[in-house]
Amino acid sequence: DVRISRISSSIRVIPDFPKPGILFQDITTLLLDPVAFKDTIDLFVERYTDKQISVVAGVEARGFIFGPPIALAIGAKFVPMRKPNKLPGAVISEEYSLEYGTDKIEMHVGAVQAGERAIVIDDLIATGGTLLAAINLLERVGAEVVECACVIELAELKGRDRLGKKPLFVLVSP
Ligand code: IMP
Repeated sequence: DVRISRISSSIRVIPDFPKPGILFQDITTLLLDPVAFKDTIDLFVERYTDKQISVVAGVEARGFIFGPPIALAIGAKFVPMRKPNKLPGAVISEEYSLEYGTDKIEMHVGAVQAGERAIVIDDLIATGGTLLAAINLLERVGAEVVECACVIELAELKGRDRLGKKPLFVLVSP
């Protein structure tokens, strides 16, 4: 697919960021290519149009770049899943494990109603811990998480397995 190739080649890989040994997948160079950026959004919109999705949940920070244009195009609400202590209203939070220690994401109470059909968007899945926390937040309020979607999957980290039966849709696996 010509669109996938363009997206793939527009992602920059930076060695030893944020620490030695990490090969960081940098999507900011994808955003500099308006054709690749539009193709990225279009591929998600084509997949989620007419699927009765009413919630696009985006994970801070890069889920905030890809989520909103998808939400607008499919006629869904956009719900930010934020790092701790950023949201001003009442929140529910979900802790998840990192390589060293734990982290947390939060969602506003009342943003999502029981029975709503949701997708979760982020730029990249590594171990899957972040997406799993987002799924748990949505399911705790009674939403149905139809699928998770990322631009990039680091397949060797097997994050997909951590999501269990929950479908994961990705555009590129470097
Ligand atoms: P996970 O929870 O281990 O799946 O890590 C995924 C989270 O870490 C996502 O929110 C990503 O934005 C971020 N992340 C991990 N590695 C990279 C990378 O190479 N590039 C960009 N984001 C990354």
